[in-house]
Amino acid sequence: MAQQTVNVVDALNERILMADEKIRAAEARLLEVEAPIGRNALSAGGNTLLGFVVIGCGLLFVLVAIVSSKPFPAILAVVSLVYGGSRIAAAKERDAEMQRLREEASDVRRAVDKAKAERARLLEERREFLLGEEHRLRNQAPAPAVPQVAVVAAIAPPVAPDDTMECPRCAETIKARAKVCRYCGHELVVLAPTGG
Ligand SMILES: [Zn+2]
Repeated sequence: MAQQTVNVVDALNERILMADEKIRAAEARLLEVEAPIGRNALSAGGNTLLGFVVIGCGLLFVLVAIVSSKPFPAILAVVSLVYGGSRIAAAKERDAEMQRLREEASDVRRAVDKAKAERARLLEERREFLLGEEHRLRNQAPAPAVPQVAVVAAIAPPVAPDDTMECPRCAETIKARAKVCRYCGHELVVLAPTGG
């Protein structure tokens, strides 16, 4: 695979891993948010029931206080009504918290879906890119039968990688671009290698 292809695929893989990480984080958050919803529902239900029972008792004590004109039932009535009211308030608070958690859970669920869609899109992008590369490679024009560089190498004196060559006459090492050998004065035909 060409280096450019590797780079594009690497970049896509990197983004796919990031999407994976996002999905994992959002799913973990979803568990965190959903766990206390049930507890809050239970607490709201329990407090509502307790509140109404205690308020019912309080109203009974009010009746008893009116009928008997004694202070004790009146005190019980006040205490019951205040406590029952506090339970109803607590139940409302739990309900509100539950509502907030449900809304957050639905936001997080949307984030999970979004990250999953992003991941699917990236996988599709990678698949299409690789198919395109495969298609491109298959349809690439065949390489010339004898590369130009090989032709030059065949007729030019050997050029060392350090830009020197061997004089064909005296075998001294001279500059590849030399037109005349500095040792023996041999005239050289300059054949610049064509890059390829
Ligand atoms: Zn020479």
